[in-house]
Amino acid sequence: MVAIKPFIGLSIRTKLTLLLFFVALCPLLILNWMSFLAAEDALKKSTLSGLYQSAEYKAGQVYLYLETLKTNTRDFSSDGYIKNALEVMNDEPSVLNSLTEHLLNNKLTTQSDLLYIDVFDINGNIVASTKQERIGIAEFDQSYYRQGIKGMYVSSVSHDSSGQLVGSIAMPLTKIGNPLSTIGVLVNHYRMDKLKELFSGDLVFELSGNTRYNKLSKAESVYLADFNGKLVTSSSIEEASHTQQVLDIYPIEQAQQFNKETNTIWQNNDGDSVAGVSIIIRVDDFEYLLVAEKKLTEAFSHIQHLKAQSYMLLFSTIVVIFFISTLMAYFITRPLNNMMSCIDVINTGHFDIDIKSIKSGDELELLAMKFYDMTQNIKVMRDDLIDKNAKLYELSIRDEMTGLYNHRHLIERGEYCVAEANRYKKPLSFVMVDIDHFKPINDNFGHPFGDIVLSGIAELLRGQLRSCDIISRYGGEEFAILMPSTNIVDATAVAEKLRTKVASHSFEHNGDKHQLTISVGLAEYYHDEDSMMKIIARADKALYRSKENGRNRVSVASSMIELTDCSQATA
Ligand code: GH3
Ligand code: MG
Ligand code: MG
Repeated sequence: MVAIKPFIGLSIRTKLTLLLFFVALCPLLILNWMSFLAAEDALKKSTLSGLYQSAEYKAGQVYLYLETLKTNTRDFSSDGYIKNALEVMNDEPSVLNSLTEHLLNNKLTTQSDLLYIDVFDINGNIVASTKQERIGIAEFDQSYYRQGIKGMYVSSVSHDSSGQLVGSIAMPLTKIGNPLSTIGVLVNHYRMDKLKELFSGDLVFELSGNTRYNKLSKAESVYLADFNGKLVTSSSIEEASHTQQVLDIYPIEQAQQFNKETNTIWQNNDGDSVAGVSIIIRVDDFEYLLVAEKKLTEAFSHIQHLKAQSYMLLFSTIVVIFFISTLMAYFITRPLNNMMSCIDVINTGHFDIDIKSIKSGDELELLAMKFYDMTQNIKVMRDDLIDKNAKLYELSIRDEMTGLYNHRHLIERGEYCVAEANRYKKPLSFVMVDIDHFKPINDNFGHPFGDIVLSGIAELLRGQLRSCDIISRYGGEEFAILMPSTNIVDATAVAEKLRTKVASHSFEHNGDKHQLTISVGLAEYYHDEDSMMKIIARADKALYRSKENGRNRVSVASSMIELTDCSQATA
């Protein structure tokens, strides 16, 4: 229930839109997020493993290259001519000249990368060299001598003044027939530009026995640097800058501090995030770090592409949801609003509503039709009720026998007329009529005839009056007439007319004709007289006067107390 609370008060359209968002977008977002995480992880791993294979292959090539140089140098050191020359040089110094000749003619020419060859005696003096100027120099401090005298030695590489990569391989020279007795050192000085070739061009690795050549993309690079970060060679950096470039990257730090290789993500020298691996290549003084790296933007470009596509999908979903919610608004909210407007109209008492315009062809149209039928039924019931009420009202204000207004209605209307006359200063007259000697009619001819006479006189009286006059049956055989906007003079004339009309009329019973008369009492409304009952009382007194004075006459209450006869039967 708590979860539903925030939705209370929202429109159906908003609720449905939110529901659609929830149902359509949430799973999509979660799925996207999870698949991107998994894809990034998988891509990172595959990138790193690809790079590691490439780096291993490159490292292998470097080892192979060094091994070739070492083999060549070992071959040279096993040359009997060189060993022999060294053994006899003290007795025959001229042999050294021949040795230099031998090196120049038979050794130097055999390898294109070989720059020059030095032969050291046991004390570190260069006794023969293909570089003439080196003969006689003492280099016992040089590592290739000091290490070379103990065993085979590979030096580090460096850039010479012309920018070439150079390095040296040293081999001990032993006595002929006694490999344990060292008599000197042979050092081959190489141009190692082949290393540069190894780092240019392709990323090569072997997978399941198949060698695959991958052209290095702009985002990929392999390079060789020493443990201080000094760059030896690289696939991507300008040739000229190799001699100066010093790298400050995570793999160098790891190699320097912990002698460790790396396989992770770091920031390269240009500040780009890269996935990369590093492999330590170590042969004597040849101690370098081989690094292969790939920019993350490139490595994850497929995912970025997928992300862009998924954002597009997300956007399209939002558009579709809005479209659906608009459709829903059209098919649901609109008919509902329409129905609500109709209910508003019904509330004002009008049942002729245009609900049939809802043509959705679904349950809502059915509901609208049923609603319409209901309103029509209510309308019929209401009209019937109004009709019955009107009839009931008529019954409640009419006298059943004569059809005239009854006593109660006369008093109601009378009070209203008094208030009106008071308010607008208009005249108002009141007339009381009593049938003379009516009782004998009943007694002699029966009540049914008495009723006929009563109704007949009522009809006669009504026929003489204006539509605005209010005539009622006041009691048994008494009638009362209210005459709005009529002064006592005019009212007296009307009363006289009534009296003569009744007196001149004959009622037939069993072939006999019977005539009757009426006595009339009149009173006029006095200004500021606020009660109907007071006027009635005065009119009643005037009527009494008529009766007293012989009946069949009209008497007027000329003032609140004074009564005057104004008419009398002529007979
Ligand atoms: P007066 O001239 O003094 O008025 O004499 P009256 O006989 O008319 O007066 P009274 O008051 O003695 O009699 C009135 C009679 O009217 C008595 C009653 O039976 C009769 N009456 C009253 N209402 C009806 C009615 O609805 N139908 C019939 N048939 N007679 C009625
Ligand atoms: Mg009477
Ligand atoms: Mg009477």
